[in-house]
Amino acid sequence: MEIVLASRNKKKIAELEVLLAESLGGSVKVLSLDDIGFTGDIEEDGNSFEENAMIKAKAVAEKGYIGVGDDSGLTVNALDGAPGIYSARYAGEHGNDELNNKKLLAELSEKADRSAAFVSAVACAFPSGEKFTVLGECRGEILREYRGDGGFGYDPLFYYPSLGKTFAELSMDEKNAISHRGKAMRAFALKFGEYIKKTDE
Ligand code: IMP
Repeated sequence: MEIVLASRNKKKIAELEVLLAESLGGSVKVLSLDDIGFTGDIEEDGNSFEENAMIKAKAVAEKGYIGVGDDSGLTVNALDGAPGIYSARYAGEHGNDELNNKKLLAELSEKADRSAAFVSAVACAFPSGEKFTVLGECRGEILREYRGDGGFGYDPLFYYPSLGKTFAELSMDEKNAISHRGKAMRAFALKFGEYIKKTDE
């Protein structure tokens, strides 16, 4: 069986294939947008992570494939959930990870509440119109200075108390075990397995 992750990111494709193999024994091949000749961008104009993930999944399902979409970001309580769905472009369209982190530190400089969560939504849409969404969340705190050189995005500022480290100080395996994306992808693999079983019966 083939499914299409609405992404061109080879790492994300490989990661999903491994997780699906763990729960479904290697029977699912994960294709990318490039693999199916999908050109152009999918406009993410939803109002939540779930909506954006589903927009991507549906764009693929409309082409006749089982579509999977994901969307993730950082939500900070003292900022009423910002940067949220705008995490990638918090410092503007031409921003980058460094500028995004700088803006986050500035916005939080006077705030005592540093609690935050990474959130990831994974949506699945079938050509038949059936669909489902799962969510993964990882709670932590935003530090006042950077720690660690691994990861990407807001990782050097995101402190995970029970390991006593920022996400930028974790190995890939450590991060996958506890991260929002790891949780959402594993929840997706589980639910997708149930769907396949149901259609086989
Ligand atoms: P995407 O939806 O996975 O492309 O993530 C959107 C944005 O959210 C990224 O550009 C990052 O700024 C932020 N983000 C999502 N996941 C992570 C993470 O695991 N670490 C750090 N930043 C993240």
